[in-house]
Amino acid sequence: MVQNLNKYTSTSTENIVDKCPAPSPETTESINYHYYIPLRDIVCSYLPFSRIAEIDKAFVLADRAHDGQKRASGEPYIIHPIAVASILAQMKLDTESVVAALLHDVVEDTFLTEDDVKREFGNVVKELVYGVTKLDKLRFHDYREAQAENFRKMILAMIQDIRVILIKLADRTHNMRTIGNLRPDKRKRIARETLEVFAPIANRLGISEIKVELEELGMAALYPMRYRVLKSAVIKARNNRKEIVNNIQESIKARLAEVHIPARILGREKRIYSIYKKMVNKDLQFRDIMDVYAFRVILNDVDTCYRVLGQMHNLFKPRPDGFKDYIAIPKINGYQSLHTSLVGPHGVPIEIQIRTEFMDQMSERGVAAHWSYKEKGSEPTSTTAQKNAQRWIKNLIDLQQSTSSTTDFIEGVKTDLFPDAIYIFTPEGKIYDLPVGATPVDFAYAVHTDIGQHCVGARVNHRMYPLTRPLESGQSVEIITSESAEPNALWLSSAVTSKARSKIRQYLKGLRTQECELVGRRLLQNALKTKKIDQIDPELLNSVLKDFKIQDLSTLFVDIALGNLIPALVAKRLQTDTDVQHLLEEGLPISGTRGLPYTFAQCCLPIPGDRIIAHITPGKGLVIHNANCSNIRDIKRDPSKFTSVEWDLAVASNLDFQTGLRIELENRQGILSEISNAVDVAGSRIEAINSDIKDEHTYVINLTVTVRDRLHLANIIKRIKAVPNVLTIFRRK
Ligand code: MN
Repeated sequence: MVQNLNKYTSTSTENIVDKCPAPSPETTESINYHYYIPLRDIVCSYLPFSRIAEIDKAFVLADRAHDGQKRASGEPYIIHPIAVASILAQMKLDTESVVAALLHDVVEDTFLTEDDVKREFGNVVKELVYGVTKLDKLRFHDYREAQAENFRKMILAMIQDIRVILIKLADRTHNMRTIGNLRPDKRKRIARETLEVFAPIANRLGISEIKVELEELGMAALYPMRYRVLKSAVIKARNNRKEIVNNIQESIKARLAEVHIPARILGREKRIYSIYKKMVNKDLQFRDIMDVYAFRVILNDVDTCYRVLGQMHNLFKPRPDGFKDYIAIPKINGYQSLHTSLVGPHGVPIEIQIRTEFMDQMSERGVAAHWSYKEKGSEPTSTTAQKNAQRWIKNLIDLQQSTSSTTDFIEGVKTDLFPDAIYIFTPEGKIYDLPVGATPVDFAYAVHTDIGQHCVGARVNHRMYPLTRPLESGQSVEIITSESAEPNALWLSSAVTSKARSKIRQYLKGLRTQECELVGRRLLQNALKTKKIDQIDPELLNSVLKDFKIQDLSTLFVDIALGNLIPALVAKRLQTDTDVQHLLEEGLPISGTRGLPYTFAQCCLPIPGDRIIAHITPGKGLVIHNANCSNIRDIKRDPSKFTSVEWDLAVASNLDFQTGLRIELENRQGILSEISNAVDVAGSRIEAINSDIKDEHTYVINLTVTVRDRLHLANIIKRIKAVPNVLTIFRRK
């Protein structure tokens, strides 16, 4: 059941009296009361006073239950549940969330039972505590190694009550803050799990506050050296940039004052983890990332955002394609803002985010955002992030109901957790967000399952478009359907959304085994790239089948078609070292180079069909010589200086090579043009020419010509020889 997210946040900001109700003597007498005071102050600032006594009671119960237990730091255990509850209270979550956070570890670690919690605080709090306790037992290494069933449980917990996940995220945040007290191996495991599972979930729910903290702490724990190095580089860069940042900020401020727009203007600091990710994923230099000057302008209303955008484009020169309107089209997790890239004074790159206070709050809190912005007296309306989260969770339920296999389910959730969305329009202008790589088939299923099941073609921007080709953001897509059409099994190799894939697989399950076998074979062949299934070493194949506990190849194909096995994974197992090496050399005319760069020796200019050898030159890679080139006679005696290579004739026969010819001739009028004509007729080109006089009657001409292979060369030589007055011709070596 999806519950209404609205009720998870406090709805009452009315009835505020001056003073928070005094705590009961029972509360103040607790030895750890002083740890509790800051939390109590926070909850008193936003929760109805009538609910504070419940929170006091939860603190007293938790404190007694954890009495005598210590954190790894040696401090009393109760500081942990208090810290978790405080994180939630700072996000202004409701009383039940705060109470459950205080009690989140009692069932697992103390004498208290679920029934005790239910009796004292009711069923909702009990369910929340139970949900968090269950999640605590799950261990993930990462997605791939996660026991799929565990991950499914986690998602299901999230579906039942999203507050379970919010408490779990707060729990993880505090544990990460104090991770320094743990053993290094434990530290690494938790940090990795945080980066690969919890930060993406926080991101998907739009809670950037928590996402950012988890990423920073996760990276510091997992890659302490890299973190330290980057951090000190960032601090240094910041100091160098201070003056420029101030100048830009002042000119933005001055401009907005001129046009009487009140605004908050902030310089944005880049996070270490996001810098690190950009360096790794986009292969950028530290400088390239740090040299961008980033600002945020926060305003009162949406209209002003667009006005300020105009002012900024007038103040600095906007970059073409540097503008994104996430206000009109919010990101998948509900994020809203205008982004623009500009060129500042002296050409410095500037990025400005423009948004309202409300959007700014939303970008920090996402699903957990508070209602304090709702208009007085109106019904609480859910925010974009909450609507999106509801829709996402509803999709997860549909997916859960329509997929019987856990792998499908996980695969679906995985794509959803790393959203890189494109936006596709229907002919009527309705917007759908799809993951990057989505095809018209994905779009068809996103619009409606029936449309997916019966689609036969697609028009993109009014033109016919293959159903399996990835779409691009902003395209308008019209799906053509036919009542009699059925899903094409081969769509599976290109569709990316979980909905499309699970529906196609469902359809496949109804197919005869033979058809599934064909589909599976095709999918595996795609994944294997150039390696042919029939050429796989039978011994290797058998051992892989045995590992997967599959009796024969046909069953393997069927399993792949039905989605029980991921083709890329099977393909990887079926690759040998030679195949990997082969992949590196794919598309190159020489094999055996192990991916090293190479050039052809100018002395002997080898061509396909020649026996060749590669001379290993430090710093230059490989130089390919003709095997009997006189320049390498000595090298061949030292095995460390050469490596054997061969032509890949399938590739080489489509390319042009160069080689040298030496021609002796008796000079006469017009002979050069006849030779060049002969070369032309033989299907070759002259790349270079020089001549010399040998004696009174004889000329020597050196030609460099293009050649496909030895046969082609023989043909060229024959043609030139036929020219009258050509005396001798041979290949230069
Ligand atoms: Mn805990």
